[in-house]
Amino acid sequence: MSTQTIAVHLPDGAIRNVPAGTTPLEIANSISPRLAAAAVVARLTPLSGTKKQDAGGGAAEQPSEAAMYATQDGNAARLVDLTAPLTADTRLELITEKDPEALMVVRHSAAHVLATAVLELFPETKLGHGPATDAGFFYDFYRETPFTPEDLAAIEAKMREVVARDEKFVREHEPREQALAEFDRDGDFMKTHFVTKFTEPGAEVSFYRNGKFVDFCRGPHVPSTGRVKAFKVLSLAGAYWLGDEKNPQLQRIYGTAFFSQKALDEHFARLEEAAKRDHRLLGKQLDLFSIQELAGAGLIFWHPRGAMIRKVMEDWMREECLRRGYLLVYTPHVARVNLWQTSGHEGFYAQNMFTPMELDDANYRMKPMNCPFHILIYKNSPKSYRDLPARYAELGNVYRYERSGTMHGLLRVRGFTQDDAHIFCTPGQIEDEVVACIDFAEAVLKTFGFNEFKVELSTWDPNDRAHYAGSDENWALAERSLRTALERKGIEYKTIPGEAAFYGPKIDIKLVDVLGRLWQLSTVQFDFNLPARFELEYVGEDGERHQPVMVHRALFGSVERFFGVLIEHYAGAFPLWLAPVQAGLVPISERHHAYAKKVEAELKAAGLRVEIDDRNEKMNGKIRDFANQKTPYILVFGDKEEAAGTVSVRTRGKGDQGSMPLAEFIAKAKALIGSQSTEL
Ligand SMILES: [Zn+2]
Ligand SMILES: [Zn+2]
Repeated sequence: MSTQTIAVHLPDGAIRNVPAGTTPLEIANSISPRLAAAAVVARLTPLSGTKKQDAGGGAAEQPSEAAMYATQDGNAARLVDLTAPLTADTRLELITEKDPEALMVVRHSAAHVLATAVLELFPETKLGHGPATDAGFFYDFYRETPFTPEDLAAIEAKMREVVARDEKFVREHEPREQALAEFDRDGDFMKTHFVTKFTEPGAEVSFYRNGKFVDFCRGPHVPSTGRVKAFKVLSLAGAYWLGDEKNPQLQRIYGTAFFSQKALDEHFARLEEAAKRDHRLLGKQLDLFSIQELAGAGLIFWHPRGAMIRKVMEDWMREECLRRGYLLVYTPHVARVNLWQTSGHEGFYAQNMFTPMELDDANYRMKPMNCPFHILIYKNSPKSYRDLPARYAELGNVYRYERSGTMHGLLRVRGFTQDDAHIFCTPGQIEDEVVACIDFAEAVLKTFGFNEFKVELSTWDPNDRAHYAGSDENWALAERSLRTALERKGIEYKTIPGEAAFYGPKIDIKLVDVLGRLWQLSTVQFDFNLPARFELEYVGEDGERHQPVMVHRALFGSVERFFGVLIEHYAGAFPLWLAPVQAGLVPISERHHAYAKKVEAELKAAGLRVEIDDRNEKMNGKIRDFANQKTPYILVFGDKEEAAGTVSVRTRGKGDQGSMPLAEFIAKAKALIGSQSTEL
């Protein structure tokens, strides 16, 4: 019997010819035992696949079951256990703790350790599932008696025992029907559901065993429980099985895990920092905005200071739109239901809309999106190719129904303002338009102080043709223009197959804030659906009627949400050009009030936003109050300054800078404001 030989391509370009069945661990050992010890899992990329085609969209905070169990695209890179036998020619990377994907593997392994501990302490418990998340992991359990805080402490202690036992994670297989029969027999209703839903009849299903614990699981896992080195059980939450309140209530235990105690400690330090920066807290402290019980949840009241920042944001955005060839429009907040029927929202989006209002002539609905309104403006007059591209921009208020109890400060609301634009153009113009959108998005992020961002391209699933609007040519053109635009800009991106909306592919831009958190804000989205539904046209150079290509794009995304992110990013210490009060004026005593008025008038004439504190308070108290408001400059003056026509300048974060002629201060501040500097 001859053994088949396979070619394993290593990242350094070397090719190892090894017998089929060789494991990544064996290859690692043959390279160096140190590498073998450091490796967590292996990444295999079929030789026909491309490295950019990362599998899956990464784990979200609430990963879908489908993402956890679905079989992966055969051409995509995938992670496997170090002990998985290699069966075909492949690229192989040994993944160590430095790779972010390794962290997801150790977290999922920690979820198995959690479930192991729970079953050892509470054997009557039934298992749901336990995915890794961006912040850690959870596991869903069914048990009639609620877990207590003492139980959680006992579970964490038991987990340490499981880790100390250093049990190997072993992958096993079983025929699906046999597995189902066993789960059925044991009353494991959740496992029965997952196996039924996510595996095919006649298939083999995979299990992972550590010690006596076995879980239906696709894997991969770290080599053994001993590799789960730094973890913590965090909290408990209730959730109905499959989100249906008629179903049994599950208990979800949350935890987190890292490769080292140091990384775990840093994680908690970051959380503490994030709590201090919570925009709801700072919004109150700095008197920026409120949400009023009497008016309703998810509706934002912008107070004068918050409104001033919003004005600066909006002015910048409108000016930038005009500079970049957009046309500004305004549209109503409500429209007849007929419009929403034509646009299709009345069908596929109705559950996200406010219920209709009955007027004497028709039923009306608040707008959840601005698109149909911009389309009506486009349609109001005949268009020729000479009118294109037509770029309509609006800071449009939209209203969407969010379930009560799901609202969260400025981040999740029922009414918000989109910096929305719709671009109508010819197929030949689309690539340049997308490049221009990405340029604009970069300008937004850079101007508002975000230096890092991540880009995702969501494409369709051509095998699921029935679920998408638009022709194959539409999709090919759109996806090609998005890709080419990203490549022309030299931007690295991740493709997420099958994640496009039914009406077109899109680019999502996620900014990274000062704490390293990702925020989804900007999006550039194709639409093949609405131009067809509204029968949009333009007359081409050939004199014939054509359908324009339509792109939706929003860069702040939601002004409210972007503002929330800004508050947290800057911890309320807005850069000078955004700060609601740029300079706080502190006259040392009452006899300096006249000079204060003069200073105020000069600063205001120069376009600065200032506030005098002329209360009968001690100077230090006034300085403290401005400092608590995170005011960028505090200008103090008494006899000496008044006589010399100067101000004594305190700069946020730098302290007392000494005296300076007023004119010099004004020139300095204006230069920083004019350049939208984020230095101060
Ligand atoms: Zn698992
Ligand atoms: Zn739109």
